[in-house]
Amino acid sequence: MDDTPPQGMRTRAVHAGEAPDPATGASAPNIVMSTTYVVDEPVAFSALDQDEAAPFVYTRWGNPTVRQLERKLAALEGAEACLAYASGMAASAALLLGTLSAGDRLVVSDTNYPGTAELVRHTLPRFGIEVAPVDTSDLEAVASAVPGARLVWIETPANPILRLADIAAIAALSHRAGAELAVDSTFATPVATRPIELGADYVVHSLTKYVGGHGDAVGGAVLGRAAPLAALATEATIHYGGVLSPFNAWLIMRGAATLPLRMAAHSAGAQQVAEFLEAHRAVTAVVYPGLASHPQHDLARRQMDCFSGMLTFAVADGPGVADRMRKQLEVFHYAVSLGHHRSLIWFMPTDELMTSTYALAGRQLESYRRFAGEGIFRVSIGLEDPADLVADLATVLR
Ligand SMILES: *Cc1c(COP(=O)(O)O)cnc(C)c1O
Repeated sequence: MDDTPPQGMRTRAVHAGEAPDPATGASAPNIVMSTTYVVDEPVAFSALDQDEAAPFVYTRWGNPTVRQLERKLAALEGAEACLAYASGMAASAALLLGTLSAGDRLVVSDTNYPGTAELVRHTLPRFGIEVAPVDTSDLEAVASAVPGARLVWIETPANPILRLADIAAIAALSHRAGAELAVDSTFATPVATRPIELGADYVVHSLTKYVGGHGDAVGGAVLGRAAPLAALATEATIHYGGVLSPFNAWLIMRGAATLPLRMAAHSAGAQQVAEFLEAHRAVTAVVYPGLASHPQHDLARRQMDCFSGMLTFAVADGPGVADRMRKQLEVFHYAVSLGHHRSLIWFMPTDELMTSTYALAGRQLESYRRFAGEGIFRVSIGLEDPADLVADLATVLR
């Protein structure tokens, strides 16, 4: 047993997983773009015969730059292992298709990243997988849905409405029912929440967002225990083939080094903007886990070490204000995505999302509307001076 206490988050973000190049002493990680590797010992030609200690053979099976990023992410999440993918969706698809089989039941948050929501609703049933979308902020609803489930999939805070799910409670419920728990922790990042410490079996990230942090590289990751991830590496990485480019791994690794510092700034900025919006007379609602008015603020305080940089707000005339934003905003970019150093804003009308993606009714639709009303602006607070962000928003709110 190694009982050295783990290094702090900032030290791990900078150093974990990276090693100076043994040939040149280069301090920064090399980008190894080679697709193949010269070997000097016999190596099996099938990926099924490889293991973690084997030399690199072919970049889809493993790459030195990608491997360094995977080790850094595992150290940040406190996970035994990590697999990087070409995008957050490639990571999610790898985990879902790599663990579920025909006849299995998936319990999934009824509101989450639209790509995931559409994949589980439109694709998985074609393979004979039963999908049960539930409001995962409601523990009774989760408890009645988990019997017979193979996997439970939650996202917290959930895109786009910033509703939370209680990871520790859902891990306990899932395990009691013989199911495993996967958490899409993209909005939280390991700086705010470490789902594995709370009992989750798998963590998924879109590295495109906070971990990369600069809006210039798409990537994803799955983290968890070594044995299931070794199985997933063969089936879902090597055979489905959605591997991360070494160049993107290098960019994302560079971003990850400053993740703790950036999350502190994203959080502080979001708190300031949220408080400005809450006091503005043209704003009808603000949702931010760091506000005492968030319906799950107590859970946020228990489960999150910082409240991240995502907030939503509503106004009386959403489409009209969105129109002014596209023409008049000078600091914010009116654009999708999130977690970048640039602040981003996007309007999300509730009816449109119900038709395209979530198809909620009854109590589930009511819960969505409690957070989002007729529509919300989803705001990703970047690293600019919060006073400039406030001034920019003030020009379009009246
Ligand atoms: C963006 C996002 C994804 C998908 O990631 P890509 O890198 O765009 O494929 C999945 N989950 C969440 C919560 C996201 O924000």
